Parts: sequence; C-alpha cells; structure tokens
Amino acid sequence: MRKTKLVTTVGPALLNGGPLREVLEITDAIRINASHSTPQDRTAVLDLVRRTAEEVGRRIPVFLDLQGPKWRIGILDNPLELELGTLGVFFREGQSVPSGFSWAAPLPHPELMEGARPGQKWLLDDGNLSVEIQECRGDHLIGRVLVGGALKSRKGIHPLGIDVAIEPLTSKDIEDVKWGVEQGVDLFAQSFVRSGADIQALTATIRAFGGSQFIIAKIEHPKALDNLDEILAAAWGVMVARGDLGVELGVEKVPHVQKHIIRQARLAMKPIITATQMLESMIESPQPTRAESSDIANAIWDGTDAVMLSAESAAGKFPLEAVQWLARIAEDADDHAEPHTERRVDRLSDGMLLQTDAAVAFAACRAAEDLNAKALLVFTEKGGSVRLVSRLAGSVPVFGATTNEHNARLMGLLRGVQSLIVPRTQHLSEMVASVEPLLKERCGIQPGDKVVMTVGHPLWTAGSTNTMRVTTF
Ligand code: PGA
Ligand code: MN
Repeated sequence: MRKTKLVTTVGPALLNGGPLREVLEITDAIRINASHSTPQDRTAVLDLVRRTAEEVGRRIPVFLDLQGPKWRIGILDNPLELELGTLGVFFREGQSVPSGFSWAAPLPHPELMEGARPGQKWLLDDGNLSVEIQECRGDHLIGRVLVGGALKSRKGIHPLGIDVAIEPLTSKDIEDVKWGVEQGVDLFAQSFVRSGADIQALTATIRAFGGSQFIIAKIEHPKALDNLDEILAAAWGVMVARGDLGVELGVEKVPHVQKHIIRQARLAMKPIITATQMLESMIESPQPTRAESSDIANAIWDGTDAVMLSAESAAGKFPLEAVQWLARIAEDADDHAEPHTERRVDRLSDGMLLQTDAAVAFAACRAAEDLNAKALLVFTEKGGSVRLVSRLAGSVPVFGATTNEHNARLMGLLRGVQSLIVPRTQHLSEMVASVEPLLKERCGIQPGDKVVMTVGHPLWTAGSTNTMRVTTF
C-alpha cells in the first residue's frame, strides 16, 4: 500500500482539456506556483481544482507557493548572447546603458548594486550561466563571463556569498498572500526562507489579512541550513527545494543535505515534502529513467512524507503519466522497506517523551504493532497528535479523525495518514460509534479485529491527548 503522499503542481498541462480530473484521483495535494501566475488567473484555476476534487470525492489540500525574494535580471527586449570571457555590465534599471561592452543587462535591485564586490561569482538562469564581478562603479558593475549562453529577460540571479539585507516578502508576495487568505488556501509555502524571523514575518502578514494558515518553509537558501532548528520550530512543515538548493550549494551537495533536512524535520515531528526534478525527464518522455525511480525511492527511504512534481505536471508533455509513475514508484518503495530502520525511541528528540501527547502516541504505536491492530485511530482537534502518530507508526494504517475540514485536508500531506470527518460528539462512546462504519468501509475490519485509539479528555481540545484505548470489534 502506498503511504507516501504525492504533491502535483497545477499548470497549463493539466488545464484546458488536460487530465486534471484523472490527476486529482491520484494526487494527495495540489501546489499552485505563485511565480507563474497572477491572482486574476489563479482564481478560476483554484475553483476548478476544488470543484473537480469534490466531484471525484477526494479531500485535497491546496497550497500557494510564494515566489519570495528572488533576484532577477530586468526586462530585455531580446535575449543577450553572453560569450565566454567577454566583459559586460549590469546597469541600474532605468539609467543609460554604458557603452563599449559586449553585453549590458538591466539590474532592478539597488541592494545588489551596493552588495556587489570584485571577485564574486554570480550565477544566472538557475546556474546555466555565470559571471565574475570585476569592478563595481556605483551605477554599473563590470563582469566577465565564466559560463556563456543566451540570457533571457527576467532570469534569476544567484550572487554567491553576497550578504545584503533583503526583505523576506516582496510586494508581489504580499498581494499573493492576500489572495490566498481571501480564497482560503490550506497552506502557504515560503521561498528562500533564511530564519525563523522570515517565517514569523509571513505569519504576521497572513494574520493581518485575517488568515489562519500555516507555512511550509522551503529550504533552498544556504542560511536556512544554519538556522534549520528555529525554522523547524516556526514552520508547519518543510520542503527540500532541491532546485535552488542545488544552484546555491552545488548539485553534488544535494543528496547529503536532503538527508540532513529530512532527519532534522523528522526529529522535530514536522512534515516534509521532497521536491524538484523527481521525474524531470518526463517533461519530454512518457517513461522515467532508472535514476529518477531510484531517487524517488531513496527520498522515501530517507523518510519524506511527500514527493512533488513541478514542471512535469504543470508544463510537461506527459502530466498524467508522470503522476501515475510517481504513484507506482512510491508504492513499490513503501512496500519494500520500512523507511525508518531506527528504533522508535530514536525517532524522538531528547525530552520529547516527557510530553504527555508524545508519550501516548508512542505507546499507541507500539501497542498497535504488538497487538497486530488493524488501524490506529487518532482523534485530533488541531492535527498535532496525528502528526506525532504519523512519525511513530510502523506498518499499521493511521486514521486521523477530526471535526474540521481544513484540519482533515492537511492530513493529505502526512505519510500513511487517512482523514475521517466525525461529528462533534459529547462522549467517547458516541465518538467511537461514529467512526465504526467508516473504519469498516476503509480497512475491512472484521469482528475480533483490534483498533488502537488515542484521544484527549476533555474531548475536542487541542493538545489534550492523554488517553490510549484498545477496542476489539
Ligand atoms: P521553485 O522551488 O520551484 O519555486 O523554484 C523549488 C526548488 O527550488 O526546488
Ligand atoms: Mn526554488
């Protein structure tokens, strides 16, 4: 059985007659990438996703992935040819173009003009091109091309080793947050997070617009690795954003950094999405490569909750095949290895078992295995208990029961967890009675089968989990 969750990025390949419906029958979550859309065009897409998910009977969380503070070249009428070894300039946007150089690119970021220093290496277009800064002249920077090619309008700039203050949210991000709050998206993903303070800044913006959404911190900036603990404490979950991470750190560092992020996020009991180039070749081809298949399985065996498709589903030639392959590879990986060979107690950080909810979750997961239970049933008001159980459960299926639709949808991103909506009952016996038929239907429970439950008293209070109960049907 597949336990790993799948995240699919929506885009033109799924819309306008594309296989959105078929994809929503398989995927567990949808990502809308704010970098490639404006609030105007997004509203219709979100409506369509929600309507179609409802038609196919799936409870699917939608998150808005904010573009974040990414530096870009200004607007170019035509691509520039940056030839190897040539000298060119980055000039302040709106000012006159210095003459006598092989190429000249507008730079709409004054802070980069100030922060540039001779000897810095600037990567352009996700690392496809690079330039070494030679001279800083106040209103333009002279650079020599180290890796040449065509530079197109609005391509990204990654100046390596530059340390300049940059606001965590751009005006575009703020407009996008406003839209996301108005539309009630389930979560926001924050790009280029560097610290816990960046997450607090986004949280404050969400709250100022009246939203209550949580944040997935995308780990793709080198500073995020230095501040991983505080980021994990502040975020709902994290994404291993391997695209920009590879540009920033070097592609060779991605595997060990991925393992590190996943290990730390698991210890912090936070959900993890592993993203980018999972099935890159399927943008053009109906079949994945062996390397891609192995990469997905290994991310799962590292302990990721979810794997994500970007351009493969949003703009590729085989979006449905990509989702089908992702599901197939994930299922086989889930069937052939427990992702966590470490002892259950080693999956907790020091002191965790001193918390009542963690101790109860731990005991329930252990008991479910010892008793060969058919299911673990977690009554959860805000989702904290089900996140703990999703981390600590072995092979027993986990059901998160909640009264809250939004909370139930978030379970779409938790490894091995299925959600159940239950009525807000007064007594535990009514609560159990209300889920019995659902459990029978979902996991074929027979008389004599055992289910291990965790619940809080008083009922329906966040953070109150203090009881474990074994029910024999
Ligand atoms: P992006 O983020 O697709 O928004 O750039 C993911 C990544 O960098 O891997
Ligand atoms: Mn990125």
